[in-house]
Parts: sequence; C-alpha cells; structure tokens
Amino acid sequence: FLPHLVASMEQVDETYIMVKPDGVQRGLVGEIISRFEKKGFKLTGLKLFQCPKELAEEHYKDLKAKPFFPGLIDYITSGPVVCMAWEGVGVVASARKLIGSTDPLKAEPGTIRGDLAVQTGRNVVHGSDSPENGKREIGLWFEEGELCQWTPAQAPWLRE
Ligand code: UDP
Ligand code: MG
Repeated sequence: FLPHLVASMEQVDETYIMVKPDGVQRGLVGEIISRFEKKGFKLTGLKLFQCPKELAEEHYKDLKAKPFFPGLIDYITSGPVVCMAWEGVGVVASARKLIGSTDPLKAEPGTIRGDLAVQTGRNVVHGSDSPENGKREIGLWFEEGELCQWTPAQAPWLRE
C-alpha cells in the first residue's frame, strides 16, 4: 500500500463559480470568495464582468424551455457578475455543498445560499453541476490567457 501513489491518482477537477448580480450589488463578493478560499481550493481565474445576453443564454442553454428562462437571463445580465475558476480534488461536488440547494429557503444554514439568500430567483451564486460542465463553463466565461496555473504556498499544509 503506497498512500502517496493513491493521493497522486486523485482526480483534480475544476469548477466555474459565479457571484450573480444580486451578490455583487449586496456587497457579498468578498464573503463568497472567502468560503472557497477557506475551504482550501485553488483560485485559477477571477474577474468582474458584464455578461452579454448571448453568453447568459449559452451558459443556461439546458434551461431554455423553462418558464423562468427569460427572467433568469434578465437577472444574470442585470449588472456585473464575478467569474471564478476554482481547482481541487472533488471541487465540483464540494462547491455545490458549500453553495447549498437552489432554493435558498431549503438550503442548510452554513451554506452560502442558506446564510445569504431567500429566493430561488436571487440565489447569489452559481456553481457547475459536474466536472464536464465545470470545464465547459470555464471555457465559456474565460479566455485562455485569463487563467493562471500556480502552486499555493499552503499546498503541503492542506493535503498529506
Ligand atoms: N432558477 C429560477 N427558478 C427556478 C429554478 C431555477 O429562477 O424555478 C434559476 C436560479 O437562479 C438557479 C438557476 O436558474 O440558480 C439555474 O437553475 P439550476 O436548476 O441549474 O440550479 P443551480 O444549479 O443554480 O442550483
Ligand atoms: Mg445548475
């Protein structure tokens, strides 16, 4: 049994996290970034961005048939968002847990939505729902040169 080999085989995933316009307007950017930072994930991309309608529609294309789709596109394009790429072992599922249920009233206290939001249509943050969508969404929202590969000084203190 070679634990260092097992650890190195762990899959490093990436996820797209976004502070939605209500989170920016409410001054929650630092608070939301801080949740992922404190958990120990690695930030590889970050920008404040006014999302064009076409990009919002592409990002949420799976929801096109839903009755709330037009309102969702209006909401996401209503002001600047903060786009983030985060990397780490299990980051996609873990970020979804940190974010909490889509409906903030059902989200557990301690989660971002559970602590900071009340309505599904104003739920302050987005997180990719699978590693495949993590890659897809980072590719949609970021140009190649906007992402940074780096090794945080804390890395050896986070994982054995
Ligand atoms: N949404 C909405 N009404 C609904 C369901 C979803 O306005 O009944 C919005 C909400 O902002 C949500 C987003 O659409 O975060 C995407 O929906 P999804 O089911 O993918 O939820 P998420 O992955 O964000 O938890
Ligand atoms: Mg989703």
